Parts: sequence; structure tokens; C-alpha cells
Amino acid sequence: MDYNYHTHTKRCHHADGTPEEYILRAAGCGIRYMGFSDHSPFICADGQQSNYRVRAGEAGDYCAEIKNLADKYSDRIDIKVGFEMEYYPDNFDKMLENAVNYGAEYLILGQHFLGDESIYPDPSAAPTDDTDSLRMYAELVTAGMKTGKFTYVAHPDIFNFTGDIEVYRTQMRKICISSVKYGIPLEINFLGIRGKRHYPDCEFLKLAGEEKAPVTFGFDAHEPYDAYDGKSLKTALMYIKEYNLNYIGKPELILLNK
Ligand SMILES: [Zn+2]
Ligand SMILES: [Zn+2]
Repeated sequence: MDYNYHTHTKRCHHADGTPEEYILRAAGCGIRYMGFSDHSPFICADGQQSNYRVRAGEAGDYCAEIKNLADKYSDRIDIKVGFEMEYYPDNFDKMLENAVNYGAEYLILGQHFLGDESIYPDPSAAPTDDTDSLRMYAELVTAGMKTGKFTYVAHPDIFNFTGDIEVYRTQMRKICISSVKYGIPLEINFLGIRGKRHYPDCEFLKLAGEEKAPVTFGFDAHEPYDAYDGKSLKTALMYIKEYNLNYIGKPELILLNK
């Protein structure tokens, strides 16, 4: 594995280390294509900014800092800067415009919430048996893929549904079918593996295998050491075999135009 487009920085308030430390770790372990994808800024309807995101006032500096480092290390590693971003239908155009203006080169879709967090405060990762929320999650991820602006879907199986398994399968299969239809890969998320989270979800991987959805890997690094995660890579490769997944390797970047 010589690529990883899922990296955070301390600007999102829940990651450690300088960007340069992440780069040195990645390059030293053989990563040749690297992307920083910190949480995109978002100002809620109530005027607040969520604490897990880059502040709007820092986003330009974030992009500029990574681009400087990309120049500095260009002979060793290809570095891009972007955001991990939700798809909120009412806000998407503005969020996209802002991301481009901050200097982002690409986006990955991470649907951590079902909408403006001042209106939909429950995280997708919180356990729930609410079918409407699951359906909404699947619809949002599908609509996000359809925009053609996201390079891939980060942790597509982050939604933590505790209800009927057949209901889960019906809704989550939609994501796999859309992934094929729009050609947008689904990520096996290594933070989920090393953190022993509820994702990657075996039921979801089964669906992805059945539908032959394109699958890629992402370290989701929140500290420099995880800018290469060889231990989780072994587990992820095992999943590829076990669930007969259509592993495509490095995803093709969907670059945003300024
Ligand atoms: Zn995420
Ligand atoms: Zn992430």
C-alpha cells in the first residue's frame, strides 16, 4: 500500500502532531501518494462551529501549510490537501465553494451527521434502531456520491444501526449499488480496525462484496504514527479475501477546480 488520502491534523482539535511529522512517517514507510483530509469547517444555523472541525478562520492556513510541505517534499512523496466533508443538501453548494476557496484539491465524504449539527445533533456513530435515520443516512451518502465531487466514501458503514438486520441490509445495499453506479469507491477505514470500533461492519462488507462495489483503504490517521498503519493493513487484506471485495487500490482523485 503506497497511498493514503485520509489524514487529519491537530487543527480539528482531536488529532496530534504536526503535518510534517505525518509526512515523514508516511514517506519513511513507503507511502508515495498522501492526502490530508481534515474535517471541513461548517458554521451551523445557530452560528456555532462544531469542535471536531477545522475552524473556518484557519482553513486557508491549513491548505497553505500543506501545500508548502507538498512543495518541500515533492521529490519523495505526492501530497494533496482536501477535506473530509458531509453531504448536507441545503448547504452543499456553499460548503463546496468555501472548500475550493480555502484551497482544497479534493474531498472525501464522511457522513458523521445527518445534517446541520445544530438541527441533527445525533452522530451517525451513535447506536440507534431508528429506521428513518438509517434510511436518511443511506440517501445522503448516495446523493453525495451523485454530486461527483467526492473522491470516495470514508467509513461508509459508520452508521450504527442496532435494529433489524434485513432493514440494515436493504438500506446499506443502496450505498453499494450507488458506489458501482457512480464509480465512487467505499473505504475500509483503518481507524475503525485499530480502534476496534463498530466499523468496518462485516454485514456491510458482505453487501459490498455481493454488489462488487469498488473498495479502497484509508488510514484515517489522527496521530503521526498512524500515517502508516501496517498492522490494520493485514486485517483489511483479510477482509478483501473473506468478503470477495473488489479492491481497486489507490483511488483515482477527483480534483476540484478553482
Ligand atoms: Zn470520519
Ligand atoms: Zn477521518
